[in-house]
Amino acid sequence: MAQKEMNSMTEEEILRDFKEQGMPAFRARQVYQWLHRGVHSFEQMTDQSKQTRGLLAEKYYISVATIEKKLISNYDNTIKYLFRFADGEMVESVLMQYRHGYTICISTQVGCKMGCTFCATGQGGFSRNLTPAEMLAQVQAAQQDAGVRISNIVLMGMGEPLDNYENVLRFLELVSSERGLNIGMRHISLSTCGVVDKIYDLADRKLQLTLSVSLHAPNDQIRSQTMPVNHKWGVDELLKACRYYSEVTHRRISFEYAMISGVNDSDACARELGRKLRGTLSHINLIPVNQVTGTGYHSASVERQQAFIRILEKNGLTATVRRTLGSDINASCGQLRRRQQEEVTGL
Ligand code: SAH
Ligand code: SF4
Repeated sequence: MAQKEMNSMTEEEILRDFKEQGMPAFRARQVYQWLHRGVHSFEQMTDQSKQTRGLLAEKYYISVATIEKKLISNYDNTIKYLFRFADGEMVESVLMQYRHGYTICISTQVGCKMGCTFCATGQGGFSRNLTPAEMLAQVQAAQQDAGVRISNIVLMGMGEPLDNYENVLRFLELVSSERGLNIGMRHISLSTCGVVDKIYDLADRKLQLTLSVSLHAPNDQIRSQTMPVNHKWGVDELLKACRYYSEVTHRRISFEYAMISGVNDSDACARELGRKLRGTLSHINLIPVNQVTGTGYHSASVERQQAFIRILEKNGLTATVRRTLGSDINASCGQLRRRQQEEVTGL
């Protein structure tokens, strides 16, 4: 029988398995706790007998994230990790220090199918989904390496979380579980390019997580140029789903808007955005677009950013320019992996 990935299992599932095998219930709890403390092997579960450890190793395996590369910012304490999984695939995570604690930005897929033209990950294509355990392993590995306790998680690394929906939901359940890392939903943000059917589904689950929506344009004409997903669900359909989300969950939506010079940064764009978002429970994060080689995009000027904010505020909206951490090592998510691939393949 195929081995099961044990750190993707809930405590109840482990309990059920153990019962079937005639093992006592308290063992399931102990093993679950070990897994969520981030052990790499069953041998590290020192309160289990040698026989139990052997049995576990026969039936299950533990997914881990190994540090392939690590970059530390000279400006702040931001650390960017390139993690490798058992099959050799790699993803990026970023650990950031804020006044209120440590936040990690994790990846949910190796690559991405969505193909946004400004995004390094999108340009690199799609390889595979991450398992819940592989998402968890990024948090655990960063915590262990940096020797800190992470209090906030953002699903804003490589990949589209709502395109790996079941695994992401399971990850959320694991990471927020009391005997797991116990990071509450209010401390977790999920960023999506606008997979509308899943936004409705997520809303109905009434989780208290923060939804970030990568809008990046006020209308279909501009949005379809940079974000292919817009052909499937247009701006109006997306905003309708967002309004539903905040009505059902009473949570404020955070709209991401990467400002690209000459593409989406005009006063007319700001006015149209202001008109469409007016009255929604939201906050707008303006992000100076990170330059990605080959895209030809440049960040909007500081003047344009300020003008944009003024127009949005006139519409009763709140907008801020997102503080960029680790700008010297950043080069936007997806780039580190791309560079590593280029080094290996000599591209
Ligand atoms: N797939 C999800 C989450 C990962 S991308 C999404 O698209 O929302 C995380 C954020 O980075 C998104 O808001 C995305 O639009 C943004 N992003 C991607 N490439 C960027 C770039 N070159 N400059 C600025 N933001 C970028
Ligand atoms: Fe995928 Fe998000 Fe990048 Fe678009 S911005 S290609 S959805 S990771």
